[in-house]
Amino acid sequence: MAKLKIQTGENNAILRTECVPVVKFDKDLKKLVKDMKKTMLSAEGLGLAAPQVGVNMRVFVLILDYKGESERVIEMLNPVILSHSDEVEVAEEGCLSLPGLYGKVERFLSVVVEFSDVSGTRQVLEVFGLDAREVQHENDHLDGKLFVDRVKKREKSGDMVM
Ligand code: ZN
Repeated sequence: MAKLKIQTGENNAILRTECVPVVKFDKDLKKLVKDMKKTMLSAEGLGLAAPQVGVNMRVFVLILDYKGESERVIEMLNPVILSHSDEVEVAEEGCLSLPGLYGKVERFLSVVVEFSDVSGTRQVLEVFGLDAREVQHENDHLDGKLFVDRVKKREKSGDMVM
């Protein structure tokens, strides 16, 4: 496994490009997902999207139920947010690609997301709270969006990086 270089910068072209769907669920994809998980964990992020490591594909990895009983690292490929709660929540976010920047972002409190795992099996998951926030943050990356686009006021310190 290799640790990947994390792309940074608000105007970095790779972070601003819409990603293309995964079509081949092959060995290379498995390696990418494995390397992304390793890179996320070693950078102490809660999530990491493929464009953040320079790959223009609809792939992200994330930690669900962080510090909870069912904490786990999973991958979501070709994710689609099928529905969301009416309720929203404002909380602070940061991003591994925007070191030192934090800000409060409004997100849906829960979302239902459909995605493939690394072997191509399609599944549907309903996530809440921080998990839902991570999914929305990472899904934005696949469309070339960064959390700062949704922030009203930027901050210089914080502790949540995705
Ligand atoms: Zn991010």
